[in-house]
Amino acid sequence: MAIYVWDYRREYEAERADILDAVDTVFRSGRLVLGESVRSFEEEFAGYHGMAHCVGVDNGTNAVKIALQALGVGPGDEVITVPNTAAPTVLAIDAVGATPVFVDVDPGTYLMDTGQVADAITPRTRCLLPVHLYGQCVDLAPLERLAARHGLRIVEDCAQAHGARRDGRLAGTVGDAAAFSFYPTKVLGAYGDAGAVLTSDDRTERNLRRLRYYGMEDRYYVVRTPGHNARLDEVHAEILRRKLRRLDDYIAARRAVARRYAEGLGDTELTLPQVAPGNEHVYYVYVVRHRERDEILRALRELDFHFNISYPWPVHTMTGFAHLGHATGDFPVTEAAADEIFSLPMYPSLPQDLQDRVITALRKILARG
Ligand SMILES: *Cc1c(COP(=O)(O)O)cnc(C)c1O
Repeated sequence: MAIYVWDYRREYEAERADILDAVDTVFRSGRLVLGESVRSFEEEFAGYHGMAHCVGVDNGTNAVKIALQALGVGPGDEVITVPNTAAPTVLAIDAVGATPVFVDVDPGTYLMDTGQVADAITPRTRCLLPVHLYGQCVDLAPLERLAARHGLRIVEDCAQAHGARRDGRLAGTVGDAAAFSFYPTKVLGAYGDAGAVLTSDDRTERNLRRLRYYGMEDRYYVVRTPGHNARLDEVHAEILRRKLRRLDDYIAARRAVARRYAEGLGDTELTLPQVAPGNEHVYYVYVVRHRERDEILRALRELDFHFNISYPWPVHTMTGFAHLGHATGDFPVTEAAADEIFSLPMYPSLPQDLQDRVITALRKILARG
């Protein structure tokens, strides 16, 4: 039987009655767009984080984009982020007309090396965009100090870090705005595309609501451009409301999977995920590392095990970002990781027997050398 890095079908069987009830609730409500479910989800997701505002949007990419625009980041501005991320982080910066500026990542955690940020700041820098990658948080304290000193905004990319904490602070509660994706694979996932932005600032909230709704203030009256249609769908909002109540259980299940991998693979040549001090990892993905990564993945595929690489190409080396003027060699830590990392199956409903098959197969392949 094939094993995939992610599979939602067991979870759906367990939650089917609730998910179908969510869909039915919306269909019977008489309001299919920006109704009760979006309003309630926004309130509940903000409440989970202890934040004043949540604005639901249609996906995580637009969450980053609209967060930047709501804070006034646009053409001529530089935004500092990392090349070791999902490309949408950088696409969103590009889409608002700003210039992405990269710093490399830490070789242990693959998170933004915050020690490199000060040197990347120029008079055009407007915003810092840390990515809480793989399920653990970037240390935001040094970024907060730099932002205060240089008058910069902070947007957190929380697409992989729902419920993650660092030094007790929840991902998404520190920056001027925080962007979330609820793409189905994420720690909190919808049954399709969805996203949200958190902020505690009233003016930013007002901007976000306009930006996702054609740039309109009231119905039919445009007060600012660019305006998008980037609304969170009512059906996904209601499904997300139900799943938000189980978010802490999903995280606990992911941590149990991670513990089992650590027990089963801790004595092998695989480099297992490193948790930075003060971090409460939520294991969006379980990233391991080995010099013979490609051979290992090939042997796994022969067993019908289909794993993934997050991410095989550093953003700065992709053709689509050639206009940024980078070359291979510019961010060596990111580049070395991209050649050696891969992700093991990780999702809350991953059965123990499948996990044990993964561990056994990997041990056998590694023993062959
Ligand atoms: C998934 C993801 C996004 C984009 O979210 P979508 O909902 O797919 O648009 C952005 N940033 C990071 C780090 C992601 O993992």
